[in-house]
Amino acid sequence: MLGAASLPIPPTPSWPEVYSGIPARLADIAAQTKEKIFSQRTLPRAAERTQAEELPILPPEITRERFNEAVAELRKDIGEKNVELNDKPLIDGWYMEHPNTHDAFHIMEQDDTVSSATVYPGSTEEVQTVVRWANKYLIPIYPISMGRNLGYGGAAPRIRGAVVLDLGRRMDKVLKIDPDNCSCLVEPGVSYFALYEAVQATGYPLWIDTPDLGGGSVLGNAVDRGVGYTPYGDHFGCHCGMEVVLPTGEVVRTGMGALPGKNGEDNPCWQSFQYGYGPYSDGIFTQSNFGIVTKMGFWLMPATDHTSYMITFRDEDQYPEIMSTIRPLAINKVLGNVPQLRHVIQELAVTGKPKSYFYDGPGQIPREVIRKWAKEMPCGDCSWVFYGTVYGPDEFRRGQLEIIRREFGKIDGSRLMLPEELPEDHYLHSRVAVCSGVPVLRELDWLQWLPNGAHLFFAPIAPTSGEDVKRLFELCRKRHEEYGIDLFPTLCVASRESHVIVNLVYDRSSKESKAKAYNCLRAMIADAAAEGYGEYRTHILFSDQVAGTYNWNNNALMRMNEALKDALDPNGILAPGKNGIWPKRFRGKGWEILAGDQRTSSLPAIVKEPAAGEKL
Ligand code: ADP
Repeated sequence: MLGAASLPIPPTPSWPEVYSGIPARLADIAAQTKEKIFSQRTLPRAAERTQAEELPILPPEITRERFNEAVAELRKDIGEKNVELNDKPLIDGWYMEHPNTHDAFHIMEQDDTVSSATVYPGSTEEVQTVVRWANKYLIPIYPISMGRNLGYGGAAPRIRGAVVLDLGRRMDKVLKIDPDNCSCLVEPGVSYFALYEAVQATGYPLWIDTPDLGGGSVLGNAVDRGVGYTPYGDHFGCHCGMEVVLPTGEVVRTGMGALPGKNGEDNPCWQSFQYGYGPYSDGIFTQSNFGIVTKMGFWLMPATDHTSYMITFRDEDQYPEIMSTIRPLAINKVLGNVPQLRHVIQELAVTGKPKSYFYDGPGQIPREVIRKWAKEMPCGDCSWVFYGTVYGPDEFRRGQLEIIRREFGKIDGSRLMLPEELPEDHYLHSRVAVCSGVPVLRELDWLQWLPNGAHLFFAPIAPTSGEDVKRLFELCRKRHEEYGIDLFPTLCVASRESHVIVNLVYDRSSKESKAKAYNCLRAMIADAAAEGYGEYRTHILFSDQVAGTYNWNNNALMRMNEALKDALDPNGILAPGKNGIWPKRFRGKGWEILAGDQRTSSLPAIVKEPAAGEKL
């Protein structure tokens, strides 16, 4: 066992020395955050692997001899140091020093979703080499950009023993920033932190759009259809052009990129017009396993003035009224960005103090205890907190704020506050940064809620309507009570729909805590589907269940996805099972984990072979 929480805490790697490191402007905050996280950790920093299994864990259906032969060939092709075996202790690390060997936020055993090896290609050509190699040996590969997709599986492959294709480490260039077209072209290893610094260094008055945390890959987040909070918060919607290596090793460019520019240059409209000619193919390379994206263009927002604000609402049951106020304001674009509506419990959690600081009883923190603490905080004794931002010149913002004040003012007991009215360390200041495209680290603070804190997301989509959100909250409330988990709901409102994001925080050292979060999530997915609501994104181990809820007309959509998968990836080597899409080679062989499944590892359940003459 390597160390315990009391060991000295080494500094966080810095950017640009390390592509995934922290920029100098956030070094102190990273040091403080890291210290807080490790002070809450009782698990050893690195866990020895069990002796029961020979390491590395092999991909399915391959002998160790053949695997070793394959690895030796890959090392010859793309360099000895660019292929690492996963045979050492597993280290969960933390957000800024996350592993690419397994899911740092393991919800089953730590070594359940492990890879056999990691490979680091340095170019699109090397990605093609790896893909052809995988086809030769029938070894599943799993592409990641940065692998910071924590809460959704991190860097972990869906198939135990797959080879992780870590694109970010050597493909980390901002290839272009165009100040006139207001766009950029990036490789997978460019984090929001890095893109922000690169844009700042040019001096162009441009903004990026960042999610709550800035360490993720700009490209990786967009292919997983993540969101941010400026008017450019729909990351896939604001992308323009891709370069993709297909599972057979062929490279395609989408949109205008398919039309060669003069003298072999990139097409001049590649980052200007999204659609090009013919079927719009970009969508099939998001939340899928149809290709490996090696370059991606994005639009950048012209910098503008902005004002963030927060509005508190008194009563727990006011949210239908709040939603009915939000929808017309959002559709009419009076709300300038993707605002968030959070339950007041999150005001406690984002202070970075553990739950035990507020309450040391068993089960859920009682509502009266939350109220008692909220009373002493700037938000006061409220139930919901709305964070929004308006953009543009002074007179625009003043006008928008006036309407916002007036409309929300109709809700009894609501109160609007501006950043200057709040203490320096209040969370609103972090929203000011995020909502003006400045990536931060603050959102990690609520992970301190439990020791060894990790989280899963339940992320259904609801119409922006009081009735719908009420139905969803009620089912979440019921299941959270049943499993004794604190309910942390946040609504990210994109006018006609809202991403209802529920963070399930659990203690990685406790089987019981994990099982509660796991079962609660499975139950909520099923409950929501029964009411007609589905998730926009989910953890790799829940993707079969979620994909299975999108089953209109006898699973027509999945049957189409499977037809695409089999056509594009005949050997089934690219991320089998990702987003619930299984290639022919694995399909129906017990890998799918569906609602009510009791298995405790991601390995395939034993499927009964049909008896002679028995119909499947
Ligand atoms: P981030 O570091 O931005 O959070 P990840 O690298 O963890 O993102 O990737 C998020 C998801 O997108 C994962 O499911 C991963 O398999 C997929 N993904 C990431 N990069 C690529 C890529 N370049 N091509 C195809 N899929 C990718």
